[in-house]
Amino acid sequence: MKIACLTFNPIQENTYVVWDDTNECAVIDAGNSTSKENAALDAFIAQHGLKPVLALNTHGHFDHLLGVEHLRRTYGIPFALSGKDAFLIETASVSGTIYGVAIGSMPVQVDINLDERREIAFGRTLLRVIPTPGHTPGHVSLFEPQTQSLFTGDTLFRESIGRTDLPGGDYSWIMRSILDELLPLGDDVRVYPGHGPETTLGHETLYNPFITEVLNQEVGYK
Ligand SMILES: [Zn+2]
Repeated sequence: MKIACLTFNPIQENTYVVWDDTNECAVIDAGNSTSKENAALDAFIAQHGLKPVLALNTHGHFDHLLGVEHLRRTYGIPFALSGKDAFLIETASVSGTIYGVAIGSMPVQVDINLDERREIAFGRTLLRVIPTPGHTPGHVSLFEPQTQSLFTGDTLFRESIGRTDLPGGDYSWIMRSILDELLPLGDDVRVYPGHGPETTLGHETLYNPFITEVLNQEVGYK
């Protein structure tokens, strides 16, 4: 599986285009928010000869949703999200106003409910759907075992974690998600977060202060 990261919108959100040798591609967390950003994403897809077949999201925050409707309309592809995060689509315009970001068309429907899927496929690639609630109630991480690639959305960042003070957020849940669901995947797993640079699970085990304070038993998280 090949991975490209395009960073979009004023929140500097990482949109990932992933594809394999069939040239079918999925777009994870499409955050493109202007006609210029839409054109940049379309140009990337065209230049690489890719065929989008799926828009899928780690979670339902507006900065990760801004480009989904463009993909649905342009390529006629389904949109996959946890049903537990669908409520966030309805409050997206309010959230956008708070951050000063113009919200265009939001996805009108969730076509595939990720709560009902343990994996999701495109081309010859299978992505494992791992529920990682805490940043939002329906947050999932997506793991591709062959290349050991993990898309963590806003659950795990390089040396940080996602906010848990927004509606539906919960500190204990996000720490359980990271410690019990993600770290056991192994130190060599490459992490592609929703904001900021890539990392590995091994690096985070050593240097992420939110993880080390729990591992050192300075903080209880249960
Ligand atoms: Zn978020």
